[in-house]
Amino acid sequence: MTDLTQPGEFTLEYATAPESTAIVSLRDTYGLFIGGAWVEPRSGSYFPTINPATEEHLATVAEGGAEDIDLAVVAARQAWESGWRDLSGRQRAKYLYRIARLLQERSREFAVLETLDGGKPIKESRDVDLPLAAAHFFHYAGWADKLDYAFAGRRAAPLGVAGQIIPWNFPMLMASWKLAPALATGNTVVLKPAETTPLTALLLAEVLQDAELPPGVVNIVTGAGATGAALVSHPGIDKVAFTGSTGVGKRIQAELAGTGKRLTLELGGKAANIVFEDAALDQAVEGIVNGIWFNQGHVCCAGSRLLVQESVHDLVLDRLTTRLDTLRVGDPLDKNTDIGAINSREQLEKIQELVASGVDEGAEIYQPDCVLPAKGFFHAPTVFTSVSPSHRIAREEIFGPVLSVLTFRTPDEAVEKANNTPYGLSAGVWTEKGSRILWMAERLRAGVVWANTFNQFDPASPFGGYRESGFGREGGRHGLAPYLNLVGA
Ligand code: NAP
Ligand code: MG
Repeated sequence: MTDLTQPGEFTLEYATAPESTAIVSLRDTYGLFIGGAWVEPRSGSYFPTINPATEEHLATVAEGGAEDIDLAVVAARQAWESGWRDLSGRQRAKYLYRIARLLQERSREFAVLETLDGGKPIKESRDVDLPLAAAHFFHYAGWADKLDYAFAGRRAAPLGVAGQIIPWNFPMLMASWKLAPALATGNTVVLKPAETTPLTALLLAEVLQDAELPPGVVNIVTGAGATGAALVSHPGIDKVAFTGSTGVGKRIQAELAGTGKRLTLELGGKAANIVFEDAALDQAVEGIVNGIWFNQGHVCCAGSRLLVQESVHDLVLDRLTTRLDTLRVGDPLDKNTDIGAINSREQLEKIQELVASGVDEGAEIYQPDCVLPAKGFFHAPTVFTSVSPSHRIAREEIFGPVLSVLTFRTPDEAVEKANNTPYGLSAGVWTEKGSRILWMAERLRAGVVWANTFNQFDPASPFGGYRESGFGREGGRHGLAPYLNLVGA
């Protein structure tokens, strides 16, 4: 008789549960959203965006050049000077609330489009990205008329025009993290989405029109790295908010030195997820899974290094690999899918190269026996054991579904190993002792420390890193300051 208590003896096969794409209506070609209207790019250039799960062409999108960036910055400046900067906080809040409600109303459409363009599982875009995106607009709508109370004794004044550049891993959520605080504080914006995921930002432009946001308050210029570079170097912007890789972030910081432009950077990470022997291990295993396989590991704060106490190493690995065998890899539009497509061929090749380096350097690889779709960009969830801190897979950001496991014996050793990275974005601690959580949190050099959970986000909670993970905070009251001049004692 089959022993149902034994893993591997009994596997449930789910029927497919595809989400319909009928709710999304794509245009063949998208222009730029400048001054509240759709315009053809002066550059004359366009580029395709594809579905990374099928490699199918989705739409053709304008590639903004320096002249287009200039038009967008001029439109943002005009909108700021001709009214937005003088609008009362209450009136600004009205627009933010409208945007938040429209996002909620159209959230299924946005979620499907996000999954089509970026490859993330529909259950994530539906249950995480979109609810959080709307929540950010609601949260900052609430701050718009309370800025004088947020910074006691100081008068808050907007900066002017913000240039905002976002990556492809959470396109709508990153757009919301950027736009909501900038608008709440009375700034206008030029937003540059990532080359591989422009479509939800372009759908957001429709929402902004429906919300009757004054023309030019938000301008959306699609394009690649050169478009972002033209935005950063434009003399007409007062602030740059960038989320992306540490390499590009460093270049932007060097370029802006001495210009007087304000800057916030949200960059890469190599987070440690630290499991002590007294932790609730089943809960910890779920946290490890959520920490690294959520969104294919395309998460800057992913728990990509598991530090497990030596005494429970074998037990945790056994439960983790058993759990890994149940993860479903495949069609991101299937509601049962846990791990969707890698965002681009380029990113897949980067992950494959780092995984090969792990094998070459002597780490032991484990991958479940899963069949990857023949088309599209997919990578099996991967665990490396026997990893030493000097291995590339322990040091470099992989930004894919790959976990490197290291061990420790004492809390001091855990702290030392966790901090042995140039990054400092996030960390996780699993233990039943509250005092140990506080002891660890004081010593871990990370912007966010999760305790007995991982990858939890809330608009009221500030997020950001230090060292090579960047500086400045997004979210909560802290997220207002980077968009304000604070005057007075
Ligand atoms: P990336 O190359 O730095 O791209 C990020 C954004 O910057 C994209 O819109 C990109 O355009 C644009 N860009 C590229 N070169 C530029 C330049 N010279 N000047 C101005 N803008 C430029 O990063 P990625 O590899 O696409 O994204 C993954 C990285 O983002 C990871 O390292 C991850 O850790 C980091 N990330 C950090 C956070 C955080 O909150 N800390 C959140 C998400 C992601 P194209 O898309 O056209 O290249
Ligand atoms: Mg795409």
